Amino acid sequence: MSEAETTLGAAPKRKRQRRQRSTTPLALLLLSAGALAAFWAGAVPHSVNPLAPLDLSVPRPWFLDWRLAALKHSRAQCEATLRGPEIEAVTIPDQPYKTGCGWLNGVRLASAGGAKVRADALTCETAAALAMWMEHDVQQAALQHLGTRVAAVQSMGTYACRNIVGSSLWKDFRSQHATANAIDIAGFTLADGRRISIRKDWTGSGPEAQFLRDIHHGACRTFRVALGPDFNAAHHDHFHFDRGYFRSCK
Ligand SMILES: [Zn+2]
Repeated sequence: MSEAETTLGAAPKRKRQRRQRSTTPLALLLLSAGALAAFWAGAVPHSVNPLAPLDLSVPRPWFLDWRLAALKHSRAQCEATLRGPEIEAVTIPDQPYKTGCGWLNGVRLASAGGAKVRADALTCETAAALAMWMEHDVQQAALQHLGTRVAAVQSMGTYACRNIVGSSLWKDFRSQHATANAIDIAGFTLADGRRISIRKDWTGSGPEAQFLRDIHHGACRTFRVALGPDFNAAHHDHFHFDRGYFRSCK
């Protein structure tokens, strides 16, 4: 083989190697992004999911967000997770989506974190997030700031077939309430009978306000969206929590 032939033959090979070297990181990046998105969306089947199923009695476990998301599509896992004594929930039949409204893998909730919470339809994922928050944020903060536990939660509703309210930008989009993936909370009744209201007690520096600010901060770790009176006027009297695909904490 002449020197000229060797050179001519080597050039395309080097180009190929360079192309391979430049496409490998891109392929790895796309693969990693795909894997992250699958965990985020709760689309990794339990049979291949390396994360242990969620145990609601463990405060702040690793990969909490992805482990909550893993409940989205598995009724069996939902039933295994939402168990007493601190939570009372039963699975309910699906209401297939129609015009952007309905729910899949929902539960009817009677209590969470040892407190009464009335919710006729709530996705399993959001119910589990609520139970985590009630047990490890709300009850702890109530003992710390108010010297007693919460006995009941005043829910303003979970499922409602409607669009987002309070924002001209998002008014044409379905709310997470339209898929039973959200809950609105107006306040709490304590074990000693006192009532804590977001409308009346959010402002100020007293123990009631500190309790509400602490638990709102805690909700930002458990839910993906946790909005309160500081977000906009539409939330002046309640917390809105959901497990949709966006993140917002205010
Ligand atoms: Zn809401």
